Amino acid sequence: MAQIDMSGKRVLVMGVTNRFSLGWAIADRLRESGADLAFSYQGERLRETIEKLTADMPACPLFECDVTMEEDLQAVFGGLKEKWGSLDGVVHSIAFAPRDAMMGRYIDTSRDDWATALDVSAYSLVSVARHAEPLFSQGAGMVTLSYYAAEKVVPKYNVMGIAKSALEASVRYLAYDLGKKGVRVNAVSAGPVKTVAARSIPGFMSMYKEFRETAPLGRNISQEDVGNLALFLLSPLAASITGEVVYVDAGFNVMGMKLPD
Ligand code: NAP
Repeated sequence: MAQIDMSGKRVLVMGVTNRFSLGWAIADRLRESGADLAFSYQGERLRETIEKLTADMPACPLFECDVTMEEDLQAVFGGLKEKWGSLDGVVHSIAFAPRDAMMGRYIDTSRDDWATALDVSAYSLVSVARHAEPLFSQGAGMVTLSYYAAEKVVPKYNVMGIAKSALEASVRYLAYDLGKKGVRVNAVSAGPVKTVAARSIPGFMSMYKEFRETAPLGRNISQEDVGNLALFLLSPLAASITGEVVYVDAGFNVMGMKLPD
């Protein structure tokens, strides 16, 4: 298989909890393609895991960063400016909604839960883009992770669906703002994959099974599928692609209805 060459490219990956994280799948493909990586993780409790995962990446910058904290973001991008001077890519693989907001009906979402979900899962892409902008090289790219519930109702996904809609709209507006500097912004809309965040969604396993039974390819997708698409979108092969939401979902999104065979 032809390889994508990312050697000499410097990419920040935000949002790895463990080896099942989609952020890690993307990091893995970027590393194989020769990119230099830096990581940010939400809190001290994840440091040991990230250190273990990156043990064979010498001099890999690691930053603690809660994306709702402006000073954390300043420290990450200030640190990258010092260590690298410039940046060729950012992977934004972060989402959160309070559990209560995903238990019942969307109509009952509290103001606080709505604001938290939108802040962490959508606004963070905007603030990350703003902090990264001065470091971006010509042709740099950002990739974020979305889900089909941005467009259609997926029961229980509730406020996270609204956050993903805001995220996808932000991708388009950020693509417009940063396009003037030759920087591209895209979203990967992935089918369900078993990760910590996914397993916290009530009824996730039913969703996982339903997906497989509906998708034209008749199967679920893998972490590697997501890594491959994100690698492509960050690479020079996607030099003229920006503002897009690209599916990696075994075709699930093209289906209007499922009928028994
Ligand atoms: P994951 O491994 O749990 O990754 C989510 C990451 O977001 C975690 O590292 C989490 O850190 C981080 N995060 C949450 N709040 C944060 C904050 N305030 N500051 C910084 N980081 C924060 O799960 P994942 O499935 O790979 O999720 C990655 C992205 O893919 C998310 O945007 C998700 O919506 C999207 N996605 C997932 C699927 C799927 O089925 N898995 C499908 C489509 C899209 P903690 O572990 O510390 O909370």
